[in-house]
Amino acid sequence: MTVKERVKGRRVGLVGMARSGVAAAKLAKHLGAIPFVSDVKPADQLKEQIHELKTFGIEFETGGHTDRLLKADFVIVSPGIPQKTEIIQKIITAGIPIFSEIEFASWFCRGKIIAITGSNGKTTTTTLIGAVLDAAGFSNKVCGNIGYPFSDAVLDIPENGYAVLEVSNFQLELIEEFKPDIALILNITPDHLDRYENFGGYKRAKYRITENQKKSDHLILNADDPVIEKNNIDTNAQKIFFSTSRTMPAGVFQRGKSLVGNVRGVEQEIIEVDKIRIPGPHNLQNAAATALAALLAGVPPRPIAEALSQFPGVEHRLEDAGSIAGIKFINDSKATNVDSVCYALRSFEAPIVLIAGGRDKGGDFEPITRHGRGRIKEVILLGEAGEKMFEALGKAFPAQFADSMDDAVGKAFNSAAPGEIVMLSPACASFDMYDNFEQRGRDFKRAVRELNNNDHVTRGVESK
Ligand code: ADP
Repeated sequence: MTVKERVKGRRVGLVGMARSGVAAAKLAKHLGAIPFVSDVKPADQLKEQIHELKTFGIEFETGGHTDRLLKADFVIVSPGIPQKTEIIQKIITAGIPIFSEIEFASWFCRGKIIAITGSNGKTTTTTLIGAVLDAAGFSNKVCGNIGYPFSDAVLDIPENGYAVLEVSNFQLELIEEFKPDIALILNITPDHLDRYENFGGYKRAKYRITENQKKSDHLILNADDPVIEKNNIDTNAQKIFFSTSRTMPAGVFQRGKSLVGNVRGVEQEIIEVDKIRIPGPHNLQNAAATALAALLAGVPPRPIAEALSQFPGVEHRLEDAGSIAGIKFINDSKATNVDSVCYALRSFEAPIVLIAGGRDKGGDFEPITRHGRGRIKEVILLGEAGEKMFEALGKAFPAQFADSMDDAVGKAFNSAAPGEIVMLSPACASFDMYDNFEQRGRDFKRAVRELNNNDHVTRGVESK
């Protein structure tokens, strides 16, 4: 039976109308299956999805799950829905096979799969691998958890092309045959523990990325990660490591000032570390992981170096937002917790004027004081959390309040000197002033652009 015969004429149930669910329903329909999508949310919260499903002639129900799902030949579950949910338990009890969306899409992938998981750095590394493959002229689609479902991309990937796929634990929980040619586990830190009984369960879900790999496949691991069990992971794939702290006989590692690669016994210098455009020690790890995946895919060092020296970072993650009068602006709006801000602070040598604040997520801001000593020149406080942050940070650093993004950017610019950095890295959610962190990041960049335009007029300075 070909994979297409496996779905043709079959009833495919889909639980959850998230973007990946709608994409999988469309793929199923396209392949001749009979998809049926079900969501607990009321119709008025799902207008866009309903419009799309109607356009494609796909049947659905909203406001709850009926037993119609139990008539399906198999079911695809949205990553946001935990297995302990009543409907999922019912489906399992009825003996209906149940898969994640990446499992389903992978049945139809003609090209190779590079799959990236980890607690942090997934989006950056996934995007960067796509940029390296682009630089090398390798056909690829960056997809998965990144906001572009695998199901939407998969049929456009040719036999000699690559799916560069960001995968979450949730998607890995319900795989059966999903088999990346190259799998990456970037790091494992306690996260999402609400969904797992314990840390061991969380870790095991990540290791599932390799469970169907064969001897000819590769599993890339972070040699510097204290949690990943380098020797005990059950895998048939060839394990290969990256490290930014020591040299190794194989893999990608830092030696002196350079990233060096050694795969299949050939050692090659890839790039000098300070030529990599994305800043910080964590991004160096992402760059090393990327370089290793690319070398294994057969990309020569030159396009790898080219992409690493040009890639500006993923939007809103330590993104280079341009310079005015020698002052560099960094958009790190994705940093909605204290940990991410600490990473960001360690990513630059130059003094930083930090724009922070927003909706407090109950975080303890003290670590910012510790990591910011000798790095933060001044803090500009924005939004609801301003007062609380002032109490935590105001004794350690000069601080002032701003009442809008324009005000914050203007004040930060006035406080910074040429060679210094103005960085939005809020340590808070955005919902007090914005719909989401993306909107906040774009507003920051708009404010910087407008400041730049005004600055041209008033001072005639050169800008990036
Ligand atoms: P993810 O997709 O896993 O959430 P991102 O690439 O979107 O990761 O990065 C989110 C944040 O995680 C970044 O702003 C940075 O603070 C942090 N981060 C990125 N890469 C790493 C890494 N390799 N190790 C630890 N933290 C990282």
